[in-house]
Amino acid sequence: MTSAAVAYIDQQALNHNLEIIKAQAAKQRIMAVIKADAYGHGLIEVAKSLQKADAFAVAHIEEAVALREAGISQSIFLLQGFANTKELETASTFGLISCLHDTFQLDLLESNPEYPVEVWIKIDTGMGRLGFIERSSRKVSAVAEIVQRLGNSQHVRLTGSMSHFAQADLPDADQTTGKNTEQLRRYQQISLPDTLTRSMANTAAIFTQEDSHFDWIRPGISLYGVSPFHDKTGAELGLKPVMRLVSEVIAIKPVKKNETVGYGGRWTAPNDTHIAVIGAGYGDGYPRHAEDSTPILINDHVYPLAGRVSMDMITVDIGPTPAVKIGDKAQLWGAGNPLETVARHAATIPYELSCRMTSRVKRVYV
Ligand SMILES: *Cc1c(COP(=O)(O)O)cnc(C)c1O
Repeated sequence: MTSAAVAYIDQQALNHNLEIIKAQAAKQRIMAVIKADAYGHGLIEVAKSLQKADAFAVAHIEEAVALREAGISQSIFLLQGFANTKELETASTFGLISCLHDTFQLDLLESNPEYPVEVWIKIDTGMGRLGFIERSSRKVSAVAEIVQRLGNSQHVRLTGSMSHFAQADLPDADQTTGKNTEQLRRYQQISLPDTLTRSMANTAAIFTQEDSHFDWIRPGISLYGVSPFHDKTGAELGLKPVMRLVSEVIAIKPVKKNETVGYGGRWTAPNDTHIAVIGAGYGDGYPRHAEDSTPILINDHVYPLAGRVSMDMITVDIGPTPAVKIGDKAQLWGAGNPLETVARHAATIPYELSCRMTSRVKRVYV
């Protein structure tokens, strides 16, 4: 018997989700965002599974190199581009497409003509994080200047631009702040050579803002079957959860009314009941801030978390006449108790939970 947590990754669900996303934006090309180890699902396996993706996007160059070394032949985008000459050389060697967000990167390009590369230009339309802006300020150069500078470098091929929404996941952001429309308008109004492709939509915008689809869409969280919206689950968008995090019941014990369970005595039994102890905790990446009543699925029945999450164990109220035995599987998230719901009970977002599983959780591809 093993009591360790296992993450089952459903490759069919992954491709189902890709199809659902394609149906939202049939004419666009798809840049599958697989940064952060494919949101915790496994970089290489996910990329190999998503054969119909037109391209992949990662944050770190090490991930891009790992993809090439694993034989991935689609285009690979570096969302933050290269950070120094060594990385520029790597981008050139492995044929990676670098997103440029700062003039230091143009300086590097201009002083290293021996490294030919393809680049996109990143435009800040309101995220306030990375990218060039429409008009230059003291610190940031205007897009037009950048395009012109790149045009002077024979070894640099500028083929596209991208921008990123700050709050596309807030369904009423437009009504209350107008921010999405404003970002979109700024991106549309920036004058760029017609030959450059454009890209703006993350998952939330793919599902809600059709006029932001442009040439390339950039789905991340939806590939994994998870919704970015507070008020909708992935299932409600037609998606299937890709990850199922499972462990086992390692003990069952009776608890009397008014007895407490776990660290700090956070949970008090409201009546005589039984507690199932499950072999998973924050040492696996299960959120320590999960509150009492966070749903745990055992034998297709939802039970409430009872008591504080420990490093290696969680405790669940399975009732006075339990239908659970030692060795039964307990699903911490997956269909039936979606990651979105668990995240809400832990005051975080599903993105964080799926990314931060620890290395002791084994991934099994099915
Ligand atoms: C992470 C990321 C995405 C994907 O966002 P989701 O909300 O997961 O769909 C798209 N574009 C950029 C620039 C990103 O950093």
